[in-house]
Order: sequence, then C-alpha cells, then structure tokens
Amino acid sequence: MSPENYDKLLDNIYANLPEKVTKTERFEMPRFEYFTEGNKTIVKNFKAVVDKIRRQPEFLSKHLSKELAVPVEIQGDRLILARKLTGDIVNKKLEEFVLKYVICKQCKRPDTHVQEMGHGLRQLVCESCGARMAIR
Ligand SMILES: [Zn+2]
Repeated sequence: MSPENYDKLLDNIYANLPEKVTKTERFEMPRFEYFTEGNKTIVKNFKAVVDKIRRQPEFLSKHLSKELAVPVEIQGDRLILARKLTGDIVNKKLEEFVLKYVICKQCKRPDTHVQEMGHGLRQLVCESCGARMAIR
C-alpha cells in the first residue's frame, strides 16, 4: 500500500469512529494558588488540590519537599514551604506529580489510586481501564 493510500485509509477509519471514541474527556490540571510571605511560600488551596487528585496530603507534600529541597508543613488547608519560591516552579512540580502519580499512562484519565505493594513498591491502578503501572 502506498503512503497516500494508507493516509486515506486512516482518514476513513477516523471519520467512521463513533464520536465518543474520538472525543476524550478533558482533565483539567489543578493549579496551586500561592503567595510569598517573608521567606515562605504559602499554598492557599493545598487541600482543595489534594482532594481533587485524591491523593494523601503527605504523599504530595513529601514529593514537593524532596523535589524543591525545601522543608514543608501542612497547616489546615494550606501548605507552607519554608522558602520564597519565584516563577511557577511550584505548579510545575505539581504538574509533574499529577502526570506521574495520578494520570493513567494507558487511557490518560485521572481515575486512579495508588496501591502499596509492600517493600516500598507501589502501583498506580487505573479504575477506568484496569491498567497497573509500577511507580517509584
Ligand atoms: Zn486507564
């Protein structure tokens, strides 16, 4: 088959797919709202973000602490990072976390949970498609 014909074939296949297959549900990446105060960065909506991505607050706070090399403390709905952070590094780290520990690699949906396998091993289990992915 020539490349042109192959392209036509693909076009036909996509054109004939039912709408719901081609339309993927959009996942809105959560974003931290934060401000700096003295030498601290205060994330105002930490709990709201954690609730949205359905992860343990400590899981995310420890990840941020390690990635940013900053001591952190959860205070009610807020997360306090013991350094003044400029730019949007905090949200960049949040995005990395979501892509690694929340979004299913197979179906790209966020309906997942983390399963402890013992010996420090963890799996990301997708509730939509059933995929299991080892995570570190
Ligand atoms: Zn999946």
